[in-house]
Amino acid sequence: MNPIPISFEFFPPNTPVGDEKLKTVVQDLGALAPEFFSVTYGAGGSTREKTLATVAAIARSGHEAAPHLSCIGASREGIAEILGTYRAQQIRRVVALRGDLPSGTATSGEFRYAADLVRFIRETQGADWRIEVAAYPEYHPGERYAARDLEHYAQKVHAGASAAITQFFYNPDAYFHFVEATRRLGADVPVVPGIMPFHNFAKIAQFAQRDGIEIPRWVALKMEGYMDDAASVRAFGLDVVAGLCERLIAGGAPGLHFYTMNQSALTLELCRRLGLGAAA
Ligand code: FAD
Repeated sequence: MNPIPISFEFFPPNTPVGDEKLKTVVQDLGALAPEFFSVTYGAGGSTREKTLATVAAIARSGHEAAPHLSCIGASREGIAEILGTYRAQQIRRVVALRGDLPSGTATSGEFRYAADLVRFIRETQGADWRIEVAAYPEYHPGERYAARDLEHYAQKVHAGASAAITQFFYNPDAYFHFVEATRRLGADVPVVPGIMPFHNFAKIAQFAQRDGIEIPRWVALKMEGYMDDAASVRAFGLDVVAGLCERLIAGGAPGLHFYTMNQSALTLELCRRLGLGAAA
């Protein structure tokens, strides 16, 4: 039994080799007794079938799996059909998102925001679904005013979200502030921190830049200074992220959701250090 619930996120592999590799990763991480695995959904529904196939494969291996589902550009009919397919497979848990359309694609559709999707799922599927939504402790890059972004998050909770998973971050104070501020707005559901181990520093720095996430300067400079010294990058990255997780756990985080990039080694090591997982 884990001291706090943990979950792991994958993207749907797009090659048979990737499918095989993911089976091993699910087996490795499954040994840590996660509450569930989640599988992302490509922008504009581009991975619809692959997301479903990946979720079904995880469920067959005996673990709970939750598909992500984004609504921008989708019709109510299309979303209802996807939900029906999940229901037929005994899946009652989704991560509900607005999503971003691939650039250059038209944005017409019947849903504008994730709150619309949450409301639709609740209305059409009932109370027994577990609906997770996205949260942004450093705010969503598309909203200029922090207070408004908090209100938009609260709308998702009021529309029926059961819990939230955050965007990754390296600043625990931003997380604690977010939880406090949204509680004051009456959005009182568990907010599970999304944890991004430093799988590849350059790539993660790029995501962070794109999504408005701060990597502390001292961490970035130290990482960059290691250059090609992969062992030091790995060791220091683990120290930083394990320290972050320890602060989050000590501060009352209700769980941890790991962005795995479909790899197990770093996440396993992190969980081992934190004393998480049945194998720990
Ligand atoms: P929303 O909550 O709808 O917010 C989007 C923006 O609109 C915000 O700026 C918000 O402030 C603003 N807004 C909301 N409501 C209103 C309103 N009523 N009026 C005006 N403005 C409003 N993307 C994928 O494509 N596939 C995935 O599988 C995926 N998984 C993710 C998982 C997690 C845990 C996270 C944190 C993100 C994920 N994303 C995924 C990325 C996500 O789709 C993008 O960040 C997207 O830009 C916003 O989605 P959202 O659900 O947070 O949108």
